[in-house]
Amino acid sequence: MSIPEPASPSWDEAYARDAPAPWDIGRPQAAFVRLADSGLLRGRVLDSGCGTGEHALLAAARGADAVGIDISPLAIERARGKAAGRDVAARFEVGDVLSLGQLGMTFDAVIDSGVFHVFDDDSRARYVASLESALRLGGTCYLMCFSDCQPGDSGPRRVRQDELRAAFRDGWTVASIAGETFALNPGLGITTAQAWLATIRRLCRS
Ligand code: SAH
Repeated sequence: MSIPEPASPSWDEAYARDAPAPWDIGRPQAAFVRLADSGLLRGRVLDSGCGTGEHALLAAARGADAVGIDISPLAIERARGKAAGRDVAARFEVGDVLSLGQLGMTFDAVIDSGVFHVFDDDSRARYVASLESALRLGGTCYLMCFSDCQPGDSGPRRVRQDELRAAFRDGWTVASIAGETFALNPGLGITTAQAWLATIRRLCRS
């Protein structure tokens, strides 16, 4: 089944409501805090589909040169406000993560918190190609998505481990996929969701 990719205005709408969007919890997801604690969010770090920027801000606060990209101008405005308010040097730009090559930048690491799972099958392939154009050879993508262990159908599409492995089959190594938990605002009727955290390396060409 293919779920239509929402147009950008609908993402802005998600950020314009009175209640914060389910994923917009005002702090980084614990899984990414652990990665930062392990020193893995270093160098040039891209927060892909950054929303209001918590993961780019996390990486920047730990010394990374962090950039957040999101298609929602409202989300980017909020992210910039947080960076200024917290005096953290993360940069934020409105952009399409399906066309990261247009940025003309390459990164040592990419953070994807809840973005891969928003794309339909066609956009998923475009997204992986786009990530490939933005990540240096040997760089790592840390991707957290809703997992097929999450019951019910509230929220984004569920992703199976084999789908992750298939999506990143060519030119990548899926180093690990671990069970994790998303913390959520109550909007979806759930405050946590089962997730996969995938560590995926862009292969160096021989
Ligand atoms: N990573 C953020 C937001 C996750 S929600 C967090 O953890 O809070 C998914 C995000 O992807 C939304 O902010 C949405 O605006 C963004 N998004 C969806 N399609 C996009 C696209 N094609 N390019 C850039 N951002 C996109």
